[in-house]
Amino acid sequence: MGVRRWIESWPVYRQFSGDDPLGRGVAARSAGTERITPRVSTADRVVKSVCPYCAVGCGQDVYVKDGKVTQIEGDPDSPVSRGRLCPKGSASLQLTTGDAREQRVLYRRPHGTEWESLDLDTAMDMIADRVVEARRHGWQWEQDGVPVRRTLGFASLGGATLDNEENYLIKKLFTALGAVQIENQARV
Ligand code: SF4
Repeated sequence: MGVRRWIESWPVYRQFSGDDPLGRGVAARSAGTERITPRVSTADRVVKSVCPYCAVGCGQDVYVKDGKVTQIEGDPDSPVSRGRLCPKGSASLQLTTGDAREQRVLYRRPHGTEWESLDLDTAMDMIADRVVEARRHGWQWEQDGVPVRRTLGFASLGGATLDNEENYLIKKLFTALGAVQIENQARV
């Protein structure tokens, strides 16, 4: 590189000789910066969503490529968060792709000390049997003369990876079944 080109490569030279006198645009960019592309530039679509982690409900842009989530960022169009996400929301890509995400049903028997893996059909049958049993033997039509029509035999505690629509359906289902204690981690 000649001396002239070397000097021209200085940001301060480009700032005072070019069209960027404040040095906040092209003058401040290095060759390395020019080679960088946004990590969302290869996505083939963006899906609007809501961060599931807490009750603030920040808006998210979910970037998808070939049917897989590749990045999740704050949604600038959201009136709630205006493009911002806290560290939990910023890391929510790991909910879909992280190595620590559990893909199996895990069950710990009463008084058990170890988790065991169950296939989904077995787990669903166990849950259905217990719901039927709890309603059959624990149903209350009234308490102290007041109609209650409920069972205290089961409850629901949802996790933070449930989205709004799933939580809506869970609330409807458990209320219809007679449950009273229906909560989600986002409200804890
Ligand atoms: S966890 Fe963070 S990003 Fe998600 S809704 Fe709550 S404040 Fe917003």
